[in-house]
Amino acid sequence: MRGAMWDAAIVGAGPAGSTAAALLAARGFKVLLLDRAAFPRPKPCAEYLGPGALSILQRIGFDPPASASRSPICGMRIVAADGTAFEGRFLAPERGIGIRRELLDTALVELAARRGACVLERTTVTDLLLEERRVVVNARTDHHRALTFEARLLIGADGLHSRIAQRLGLAGKPRFKRVAIVSHAQGIELQDGLAEIHLGPDGYLGLAPVGGGLVNVAVVTGAGRPPGMPLEKWFGTVLRGYPEVERQLPEVTFVHRPQAVGPFGIRCLSPVAHRAVLVGDAAEFYDPLTGDGIYAAVRGAELIDRCVSRALEKDALTVRQLSGYRRARNRAFAGKRIVERVVVGTAKRPRFSVLARFFKRHPGAADFLVRLTGHAELGGFNKVLSRTLPAAAPVPGEEGPARGAVCRVGS
Ligand SMILES: Cc1cc2nc3c(=O)[nH]c(=O)nc-3n(C[C@H](O)[C@H](O)[C@H](O)COP(=O)(O)OP(=O)(O)OC[C@H]3O[C@@H](n4cnc5c(N)ncnc54)[C@H](O)[C@@H]3O)c2cc1C
Repeated sequence: MRGAMWDAAIVGAGPAGSTAAALLAARGFKVLLLDRAAFPRPKPCAEYLGPGALSILQRIGFDPPASASRSPICGMRIVAADGTAFEGRFLAPERGIGIRRELLDTALVELAARRGACVLERTTVTDLLLEERRVVVNARTDHHRALTFEARLLIGADGLHSRIAQRLGLAGKPRFKRVAIVSHAQGIELQDGLAEIHLGPDGYLGLAPVGGGLVNVAVVTGAGRPPGMPLEKWFGTVLRGYPEVERQLPEVTFVHRPQAVGPFGIRCLSPVAHRAVLVGDAAEFYDPLTGDGIYAAVRGAELIDRCVSRALEKDALTVRQLSGYRRARNRAFAGKRIVERVVVGTAKRPRFSVLARFFKRHPGAADFLVRLTGHAELGGFNKVLSRTLPAAAPVPGEEGPARGAVCRVGS
């Protein structure tokens, strides 16, 4: 493996990295996929896949083992802070699923390996060296063994707070100060086939069935953790702010310790640098309220396959030559960005209860809202927006650090 020149070295084997690896390897490129974790690995997430994400996964041949339990989701029940609740449903046969990230992400890594990518787990990328004709990636294994790889293209798929984006000089700042706490529970009652979102005074709570009688409980809060309070106690305190869930708590068993993650809402300055592209959360993170981060991760990987693979064939990998990927992302995600801002902005307002009563009276409008946030295939809307978007101005830092510079990725 050492000494070989990889066509693409991908840092991060979450949905974005694994999908990009599977697609590029299937085209015959020599692909190296690196992750600091060993799969299955835990990943704090609400574990809801909307129909848009599901259809891409099916398109790329995603096939989790039959033993991987999951739960079909045919819509969303939304509960406003004053208790007004309404439901929106997908149009059959559209549906989503709830599936544990350990299962989903492991199945995607296995797909990448089956398609021919070389997967190295327990390998943390520590340094980058960007040169005119290659990228040198330095890594260390869990056993402190130093490894060096050379690739023609680097794909940063290392998730929220991406070190690769930081070191390429492309990282943006978090837009939301919220953090999330996530666990799995037994004993929570949900309406058949529906996931739930409960809005609270300073955040929201998501409940998604993930199969095997388990419900994913993900609470997002803007209130800071009281000094010295253990995470479990804080989780319980925040949950008690949601009356419908609080009533069920005596019957509920959490099957593992909660995990915390945040803050969110990061969008990089540009997903493109010399011989490097970013994808998934490393490129852009959406507020989990509109879900579909996994959709953005796998759709972004498809865009790499479409826009970057041709550049890779010709070894035409300068910022300008890769800019088709940036334009394709803008076209693909313009609608989603607007929907996220409108939904997150509206849900925070005390008057959301008035809207909730409207949606309760108008089930067709509620279905549309849920399809819009969960489906994410905002095709027509995106096309109109992309025609009206101003031409992208040059982005400071887009060229990344001076070529030949060493970028230290570790903390
Ligand atoms: C609370 C919460 C709830 C969410 N709920 C949903 C939901 O219900 N539905 C949905 O679609 N999305 C949801 N999301 C978003 C979703 O989790 C992300 O959008 C998705 O995981 C992005 O995938 P990714 O591959 O970009 O990154 P990740 O899944 O984060 O994968 C990144 C990988 O990079 C690896 N890595 C990082 N640094 C290095 C390094 N230096 N060297 C080697 N490897 C490295 C990590 O180990 C990790 O495996 C939620 C997010 C949060 C925070």
